[in-house]
Amino acid sequence: MAARAEKTGVTAGKRPVVREVECKTVLNRSSIGDYSMNCYTGCQHACVYCYARFMQRFHPHPEPWGEFVDVKVNAPEALAKQLRRAKPGGVFVSSACDAWQPLEKKWELTRQCCRLLIEHGFKVNALTKSTLVLRDLDIFQPGLTRVGTTITTLDARLARLWEPAAGTIAQRWRILETAHEAGLETSVMFGPLLPWLSDGQESLDALFERAAEIGVDVIWVDAMNPRPRVWPSVGQLVRREFPDLHERYSRMLHHKPTREAYLAALGERVRKAARRAGVEDRLAGCPG
Ligand code: SF4
Repeated sequence: MAARAEKTGVTAGKRPVVREVECKTVLNRSSIGDYSMNCYTGCQHACVYCYARFMQRFHPHPEPWGEFVDVKVNAPEALAKQLRRAKPGGVFVSSACDAWQPLEKKWELTRQCCRLLIEHGFKVNALTKSTLVLRDLDIFQPGLTRVGTTITTLDARLARLWEPAAGTIAQRWRILETAHEAGLETSVMFGPLLPWLSDGQESLDALFERAAEIGVDVIWVDAMNPRPRVWPSVGQLVRREFPDLHERYSRMLHHKPTREAYLAALGERVRKAARRAGVEDRLAGCPG
């Protein structure tokens, strides 16, 4: 990618440093689906546990995660070229950013790229914390689109701490309700669940009940993972807000036997919640 210009851009509570860059490709082979597509590097939502922080290793920025975004201004053109040869498949949108973060409102790169993907028979698997995705209902098509969101807790205060600039939990449920009503397949990722904050049986029961009420088609549950660059940010928040949990978080993430025991117990609670809500058959991924 070549930097084309540098400026301070659109804000979402924070003022991200925005760089306009050109890319050669925007569609990549992926272990998550057949492909992933990212029109941006960096994410204004600034989630404390974000696994995409590892991107800073390949795209160094002086700003912390959440305070910079590289905008791939030629993403639709690059994608159009790739689509001449690529075999249709599922495309995860997006793996290293939220494709509908606030900047997308101005740039509409994700929108243009999703339109191209669908026109070429690819399936868009959207996962976002932003209601901006609902803008694109006019281009999404049943059978070629799944609309999903991520929810880590039902507690608004916890969500604000861990996902400071993302949409509210109520907005995320609304994404699922609206997409479902529009006849689109829907999915929810409950994760990463916050150890000892949102991973108890009561929390899980409430999450699964709501998903069942809405009629969500696919449910994944993810535990917090010790991915590169995650612990410094998670550890700092836990030390500041939940000092009594700091040592437990550290052991759960870094001590293998403790982690295995944690995951096994969490998996049992998740399966119990899914059974109670009558959606066990929609559980596509579960820890433990
Ligand atoms: S919305 Fe997703 S990509 Fe963006 S910061 Fe949060 S976890 Fe990372």
